[in-house]
Amino acid sequence: MTGPKYLTGDAAAISDFIDRFDVFLLDCDGVIWSGDHVFEGVPETLELLRSRGKKIVFVTNNSTKSREAYLKKLTSLGIPSNTEEIFGSAYSAAIYISRILKLPAPKNKVFVVGESGIEQELRTENVPFIGGTDPAFRREITPADFQGIADGSLLDPDVGVVLAGFDTHINYLKLSHAFHYLRRGAVFLVTNRDSTFPMNHNLFPGAGSISMPLVYMSGQEPLSLGKPSQAMLDAIEGKFQFDRARTCMVGDRLNTDIKFGIEGQLGGTLAVLTGVSKKEDWEAADAVAVPAFYADKLSDLRAAAAP
Ligand code: PLP
Ligand code: CA
Repeated sequence: MTGPKYLTGDAAAISDFIDRFDVFLLDCDGVIWSGDHVFEGVPETLELLRSRGKKIVFVTNNSTKSREAYLKKLTSLGIPSNTEEIFGSAYSAAIYISRILKLPAPKNKVFVVGESGIEQELRTENVPFIGGTDPAFRREITPADFQGIADGSLLDPDVGVVLAGFDTHINYLKLSHAFHYLRRGAVFLVTNRDSTFPMNHNLFPGAGSISMPLVYMSGQEPLSLGKPSQAMLDAIEGKFQFDRARTCMVGDRLNTDIKFGIEGQLGGTLAVLTGVSKKEDWEAADAVAVPAFYADKLSDLRAAAAP
């Protein structure tokens, strides 16, 4: 099997790579930035792609921010954008609920295990919700809670969906509510299933690890609206019509970004080595996915030969 084509330092190969695609789906953390630090040369690289007529869509699994918040972040990092080209997993989940699931009101309320990014996107789509950042759910469970959850008196009869994302305030009370909504037939959605995410040059538990207890206790598999789930690609495609064969997914993680692009039968996948996955990961016999191209960093694309 031939491995991925290495682009760094090869101007002709980079030009050929860029010419193959009209659309670049760009993962954010590990490709464009690391936390709050933008990688050197990335704003200029995106300008180069745009100057060559390429469409860019930012595709992130991080559910803690809304598109508005991502726009602010991109702007502050020197990357001009607009909310229309930003696609986060919180937004993906919100539009799935409002435009695809379309549960009839009033049974369309969402119980949120997650943070404000999810709440903001649900609000934008006019989807009612409870839970989330409400302080009423950020406390220890009491005997009265056990009683009221069990007999249903503390449950909202309008909840038809449980949506779990990244939540640093996860607790037993929220899990108990979510569990009982699932037992009563609520649709089980998650923003993404990342086991971990990188922070301060180390890994911490990701959204997939937050929702895993719910998977275990309910025995149900959720639908994920984040990479590598094809539900996210379908949602992106529902918004921007594009030719998959002329689209490239760029990411740092094999089991989310690269798998997403391969399963979506995109024309190409580019792995960059500024994030989680390393060269050894796709060279391993049990590699979860192998990219078509790789580069040390996104800004290496700036070495493209003049058109
Ligand atoms: N989930 C959380 C909570 C994160 O903070 C991050 C990265 O910051 C991610 C997921 C991964 O995001 P991305 O898909 O942009 O790499
Ligand atoms: Ca990433």
